[in-house]
Amino acid sequence: MATSRDDELVLLPLGGAGEIGMNFNAYGFGPEGERKWIVVDCGVLFGREETTPGVDVMMPDISYLAERREDVLAIVATHAHEDHIGAIHYLWPTLRCPVYATPFTAKLIEGKLEEAGLRDKVRVKVVPLHGKLTLGPFEIEFVSITHSIPEPNALAIRTPLGVVVHTGDWKIDPEPLVGEATDTNALRKLGDDGVLALVCDSTNALVAGESGSESTVRKALADLIGTLKGRVAVTAFASNIARLDSVAKAARAHGRQIALVGRAMKRLVEAARATGYLADFPAVLDEEEAADLPPHRVLYLCTGSQGESRAALTRIANGEHRNISLGPGDTVIFSSRIIPGNELQIFALHNKLAGLGVEVLSAEDHFVHVSGHPARDELAQMYRWIRPKIAVPVHGELRHMSAHARLARSLQVPQAVTIENGHMLRLAPGKAQVIDETPSGRVHLDGQVLVSEGAGLSRARRSLAYAGMIAITLVLDAKGRVAADPAFVMEGIPEPVHAAVRDAVELTIRKHKHGDEDALKETVRRVARGAAENAWGKKPVTRVELVWV
Ligand SMILES: [Zn+2]
Ligand SMILES: [Zn+2]
Repeated sequence: MATSRDDELVLLPLGGAGEIGMNFNAYGFGPEGERKWIVVDCGVLFGREETTPGVDVMMPDISYLAERREDVLAIVATHAHEDHIGAIHYLWPTLRCPVYATPFTAKLIEGKLEEAGLRDKVRVKVVPLHGKLTLGPFEIEFVSITHSIPEPNALAIRTPLGVVVHTGDWKIDPEPLVGEATDTNALRKLGDDGVLALVCDSTNALVAGESGSESTVRKALADLIGTLKGRVAVTAFASNIARLDSVAKAARAHGRQIALVGRAMKRLVEAARATGYLADFPAVLDEEEAADLPPHRVLYLCTGSQGESRAALTRIANGEHRNISLGPGDTVIFSSRIIPGNELQIFALHNKLAGLGVEVLSAEDHFVHVSGHPARDELAQMYRWIRPKIAVPVHGELRHMSAHARLARSLQVPQAVTIENGHMLRLAPGKAQVIDETPSGRVHLDGQVLVSEGAGLSRARRSLAYAGMIAITLVLDAKGRVAADPAFVMEGIPEPVHAAVRDAVELTIRKHKHGDEDALKETVRRVARGAAENAWGKKPVTRVELVWV
């Protein structure tokens, strides 16, 4: 393809730069105003009760691309984790472009589209492993790597202005157990042929050494499960198919039959089998059948490793599960890491289980997990293979991305650039630079409604949670005089504060003769808040309404 002098190659992350979650990287090619775009990954970030009360998932604000929808050629998914594909069914109606993914990933995307009622509208195009596709000025090659889910891919994105290697999430696992090992030949060849930029996973840029192989966890789990006597429940990410397989093999080796507990567990095992994985996975029992087995003959594979309130393991720990109960002599193994921010709810779950007399084993005290992301030695290896002119750390908080950039510089990468969501980075040898700042931010899925975080709902709810609410209705006559006693509603406010607020407001309106109604409204609001603060030390959300008789 011929290039014009004005052509530029740009990277615009709208999610995942400065945070771990909601990955969304747009690559643009062409002169300003006429660029064609592809989107690599379209994921969600999970809400937290403390910061975004009532919001389950968040996704990037893609209004910049929405305005250029005609020029967005495709969404290309690197792998099937929620932080990479979880927003496709929410954001596709805005972009309306085809979606490309390898078979396992495509299967899971299709399931989401089905549930969203979009299955017939969206073209999900299945790309074979090692496949190639051409999208306008972009030629994309899928390169098999290893991670903690089947079919992770790096993308080699060839353009007339150079090649970008977008790693997606990866580690170097010589024995991933499910799927292929890292295609080191392809990575080496890319490096030999010359790579302009490496856009790379930063999750574990602060972790020394290597992440370790899944195969070592398989052996450790088998040994550990062999020592256990009562019922055993193992919780892991349902998408970690190799881990599920390891647990199943350990169960079989020690005479236990397995039951899958939780919707995601069943869905992921089904998707893996449908796309050719888990061929020798044992037959699974349903929960009722498992309940009839002697304790030392059963193993439950459960969702809920992060302490999610609605997941199977939390329901078991709360004694709310219909078919499963655990108690003294039983063991729960957390074969997963603690995602930062989930500590409190995970430890609360540990405590509940301990309260039932269940022994809790986790990665804190036993070798039952390895990370799916590259530690520093693996990052260094990737830089030795690819030898890019520009390093662009993504998929990390700022502290991870900065450490990653320093590591890249120490490995003689000429330029390492940390960028934020909404920064448009022009990729050019020796002079990669941010040339624009586009609108960016988050959109919350609030109940069933998508709401911009800018609407301030989370802030409003946090205020309500902190200090409750006062609503006061003042009754005026046609001349603007107070015509009746005010009505108060106070929610979430301690009883002794109520009287203080009432007294202060009543005193104020007794002094009011007639006249400026807006001023009265504002005065009453301030007086009520002030009285609450004096009596309580907190200022509730306060609303005053006027009605006329
Ligand atoms: Zn991932
Ligand atoms: Zn990820």
